[in-house]
Amino acid sequence: MSASPVKFHRSLTGRMMLLGGLPTVLILTGIIIHMTFEMFSQARENNAALLRNLTEQVALEVERSNSRAVVVAQTMALAQQHELFGDRLASSRLARQVLQEFPEFTGAYFGYEPNADQDDAAYLNSPEHRQLGNGLDSEGRFLPYWFRDAKDPESLLLNPLIDMETSLYYHGTRELMQQAGRPAAMVTEPYIYEGKMIVEQVYPIVIDGRFVGIAGVDRSLNDIDRFLHNIKARSAVDIFLISRSGRFIATTAEETLQLKTLAIHETLYEPLFAGFYTQRSENAFKRTTDPFDHQRYYYSSAPVATGEWLVVLRKPESEIDAPIWRQLYITLAITLAGLFVVLSLGLWLARSMSRRIGKSMAAADSLALGGLPQQQALQMTTEDEIGHLSDSFNRVVERYRDITDACIAVAEGDFSPRVVKRSDKDRLADAINTMTERRQQAEAELVAAKEAADAANKAKSAFLANMSHEIRTPMNAILGFTEILAGVVTDAQQKQYLKSVQTSGKSLLTLINDILDLSKVEAGKLELEYTAVDPQAVFREMEQVFSQKMAEKDLDFSVEFGSELPQALILDEVRVRQVLINLIGNAVKFTDQGHVKLSVRNLHPEEDRSKLDLLIEVEDTGKGIPQDQQERVFGAFEQQREQSISEYGGTGLGLAISKRLVGLMGGEIQVTSEEGRGSTFQVILRGVPVAAVSELEAQAAPSIDVNAVTFEPATILVTDDIEVNRNLVRGYLEQYGLNLLEAENGKEAVEATKRYHPDVVLMDMKMPVMNGYEATQMIKGDPEIRDIPVVALTASAMEQAVEEIKALCDGYLRKPVSKADLVGELARLLPHSLAETASQGPSPSREEEPKAWSLEALDAEARARLPELVEILESRQETCETLRNTMSINDIEAFANLNRETGTEYRYPPLLFWGERLGGQAEMFDLDGLSATLASYPDLIQNIKSITPV
Ligand code: ADP
Repeated sequence: MSASPVKFHRSLTGRMMLLGGLPTVLILTGIIIHMTFEMFSQARENNAALLRNLTEQVALEVERSNSRAVVVAQTMALAQQHELFGDRLASSRLARQVLQEFPEFTGAYFGYEPNADQDDAAYLNSPEHRQLGNGLDSEGRFLPYWFRDAKDPESLLLNPLIDMETSLYYHGTRELMQQAGRPAAMVTEPYIYEGKMIVEQVYPIVIDGRFVGIAGVDRSLNDIDRFLHNIKARSAVDIFLISRSGRFIATTAEETLQLKTLAIHETLYEPLFAGFYTQRSENAFKRTTDPFDHQRYYYSSAPVATGEWLVVLRKPESEIDAPIWRQLYITLAITLAGLFVVLSLGLWLARSMSRRIGKSMAAADSLALGGLPQQQALQMTTEDEIGHLSDSFNRVVERYRDITDACIAVAEGDFSPRVVKRSDKDRLADAINTMTERRQQAEAELVAAKEAADAANKAKSAFLANMSHEIRTPMNAILGFTEILAGVVTDAQQKQYLKSVQTSGKSLLTLINDILDLSKVEAGKLELEYTAVDPQAVFREMEQVFSQKMAEKDLDFSVEFGSELPQALILDEVRVRQVLINLIGNAVKFTDQGHVKLSVRNLHPEEDRSKLDLLIEVEDTGKGIPQDQQERVFGAFEQQREQSISEYGGTGLGLAISKRLVGLMGGEIQVTSEEGRGSTFQVILRGVPVAAVSELEAQAAPSIDVNAVTFEPATILVTDDIEVNRNLVRGYLEQYGLNLLEAENGKEAVEATKRYHPDVVLMDMKMPVMNGYEATQMIKGDPEIRDIPVVALTASAMEQAVEEIKALCDGYLRKPVSKADLVGELARLLPHSLAETASQGPSPSREEEPKAWSLEALDAEARARLPELVEILESRQETCETLRNTMSINDIEAFANLNRETGTEYRYPPLLFWGERLGGQAEMFDLDGLSATLASYPDLIQNIKSITPV
């Protein structure tokens, strides 16, 4: 399980951005808006104040220039009042000098009332008249008007004032004087005079309280214009000058130049300027759109007292706002840049933090899944908290690694590693170390216990093997003599007793054989022998084996093969047969009516052709096994509860052995059963190799044809503590003319070997005084005789013993030894020749037919007891027939032993051989052999009869 990707708004980056970045942006935006607003209102107020001040200054300057002109006019009038009145020449010179002194004036003049100084006529005719020149009118009235030449402002010209009587300034000044009762200055409205726009400043000349004329100066409005333009250039404002009667005296704005001399109400400015005009005695302020250029302006007005003029200033709003906007843009840019830097740094920090935390997360996840990083899981790149987190994590990993290493070591059986205790609180280390120690201890105990158990088991198996071996011998005697007694005893009661002894003895033998098998499997001593086998033959054989029993119980027996079954399989034929006999034997035993079916097939025919899973099923319609006992019946000595021993007999070992055998063959066995309806036992053998057919043929290799062998003269030492066995060998080898020596134990054998240097020593392994193993070791240890081949004869079933014997001896024959085996083995070791026989090919039977034994080969006692022997054997013929039909291995073994014993007792080797052969075949589950051997029983009897002396 790994951590799912975190949603942005829940991630560290997301939270920092949302909780840090967003509020910062909002606050900054608020501050900027507030600042802008503040700046705007502040800047506007400041600008308004500035504009007002400027307006007042401009008004003052206009006022100053007006009043200067007025003062000059007044001074000229005052000069008349004091002495100059009537001095026309001096007055004219004064006017001229004023014009010279004040360049802003375009004219300076006096205007007397007609004959005001009583000298009009006198001056008209006087020489001074000429001096005055144009200073007089035609009546001689004194009206000198000095003015500048339009072409040359430096040259001053003189003319009489024209139309003075009809002019406003003259009448206006006189009326003002009369109204006020005292002299007062007057500033006229601008008007065009001689092509120039001018205004006049006039003062009355009063002599003895009488109005006698005027003094005045002209100012050209061009001068005022220039003056205003200077202000405009300095202060970046437009200026409008409006006269007392509401006319435009001057303007600096290009588009309004043509307004000059027009009255306000004649222009587009009426709505705007009318207000200023009506309240012209006060300052006023306004922000509005200009009717000419449609731009927004601030307007400010102030009065000019002298002349009652009005000054209006105009400043574009954009010029006031522009710096504010500029300021604002700069502030915004700096703020945004700062914000960007802050956010980028924040983002970078958050990213790097979340990346590093992500690494920790991934490492922790991998740890949680059991992944163990090899080196340090995380690099401690910084000294901050995350760096320390990485460091802590690394310590956790280290710790985890310690623990893992310790656990892995323990799992692998190494208990030495210990987990280092990191602190007093480290209870985990204590716990693991204690666990390891305890486990180590337990393991040691376990090993000891296992060794003990193995030893005990070995001892048990050896004991069992020995015991069964040892018990079988006396059992043979018991059974044999019981049988003999049965022939002798006539009393019915005693016969009954003997019968019981016989039955009990037989079942004891069966039990012993089963126990031997079981103990062999359990001790792991049972080795499987795999050969190529024709499965059809093995399974078909069952029909034969059980045909008699099926017929007796009137059961249907069928064998079914899957079509996909190959012709040859590699199997342990003997053990497969043993299992089959067990299962089918049970099926027959527990079924009273219906059928028994054996089926064999390949479980997965579509798969691999070189191996297959073989399914063997034994199905019956018998009494079945209750569900709760189906497991139990596979246990050793287990039968169905309350099953009648008298009815079914048995030991409860068959299934136990079968189960172990199947397990050994790499398979499994199971049962499905329904009480009262029948059972099906299933054996599945897995991975059974498919063999080539050629292997089957190779195995049917011919055994030696004993009758075709001719040995060159040779001496053979036969070592066996049991005389019958020695006789048996003697009997087998009789026909070959070999020189036979005998020894009864190992010691004798070694001595005889030293003395006679036989060509071959046949050595029984189990003997008193000195066993065959020791004896062979001595022979092989003696350089003189060590080259004499020793062939071991053993009845041992223990595989390990066999291996040791094979290593020590030159040959090995397993008891019961058949003639063919013995002759074959000798032929391997001794020089011999093979006669041409009729049958060069393989002999039809692996065992030769019992041969008549010559009377000469028997001792006197044996000869005398032959008739008795015939009788005994004839009495057993029925049993033999039954065995042929039932093929009950245990019973057959018992039968074989019985005959062997009888053979020994009556010193008749052929019977002994026959018994040995049958016993051997039973042990090997060689059903073909068993059947043939059992079938030859009547021949055996016939042979004895044929040599029995009449
Ligand atoms: P035994 O046959 O000697 O009793 P087995 O181990 O072969 O021992 O069988 C154990 C028991 O399992 C039998 O005694 C019988 O109770 C039960 N059993 C085995 N095969 C069958 C069968 N085909 N039908 C009913 N019961 C069976």
